[in-house]
Amino acid sequence: MKTIGLLGGMSWESTAHYYQEINEGIKQRLGGLHSAKICLFSVDFQPIEQLQHAGDWPQCAEILSTHAKAVESGGADCLLICTNTMHKVAPEIEQQLSIPLIHIADATAATLVNDGIRKVALLGTRFTMDEGFYKNRIQDKYNIEVIVPHSDDQTLVHNIIYQELCQGVIKSQSKEAYLEIIHSLYKRGAEAVILGCTEIGLLVQQDDTLVKLYDTTLIHAQAAVDFALSEQS
Ligand code: GLU
Repeated sequence: MKTIGLLGGMSWESTAHYYQEINEGIKQRLGGLHSAKICLFSVDFQPIEQLQHAGDWPQCAEILSTHAKAVESGGADCLLICTNTMHKVAPEIEQQLSIPLIHIADATAATLVNDGIRKVALLGTRFTMDEGFYKNRIQDKYNIEVIVPHSDDQTLVHNIIYQELCQGVIKSQSKEAYLEIIHSLYKRGAEAVILGCTEIGLLVQQDDTLVKLYDTTLIHAQAAVDFALSEQS
């Protein structure tokens, strides 16, 4: 079994979910007392979040690249950045590594392609919804149309992520608000919705709606399990 490298802590609430899902996946595939080989670097999220909102992405890239290299030196055979948003600096991080980066948007898009989805909606932080680094990758590389919520709804989705979910706060009115937005995206023609922030699955799950959901945490964790148990190097 290969060792899975995780760059986490953004937030730790979702990294805990990754840890659990990856171990569940290995247990399901191998049984007995098998568990995942994981090398995790968990950052202090507060300074990172301040840099994001100040627009200092080069500094984010530098900090995360340093930690990613530590994960590689610690024996990891691949790296997962356990947040959609920080894939904005994935190219800079990837450049510093000799192990493969398992990109969260690629893992998600591969699942969408497999399921025949042609038009999808994306929920996430404003950075993820508004900028091109995530949407364009799915559109250009996989030929899937991506739509996002209108501006006011983007603000609501973004604020709930940072002010509640990343702090472990789960509120029923926030869940209702998310479900309404998911429904409005469906009415705009989305065949499915990407939960493109690793904390959203803590608030909304597939059982809450008939609209097909793609939870990036679950998909990314599964991709890591597949990698760990594959022959590929
Ligand atoms: N975990 C979140 C994501 O998947 C948001 C936190 C962050 O800004 O990294 O985008």
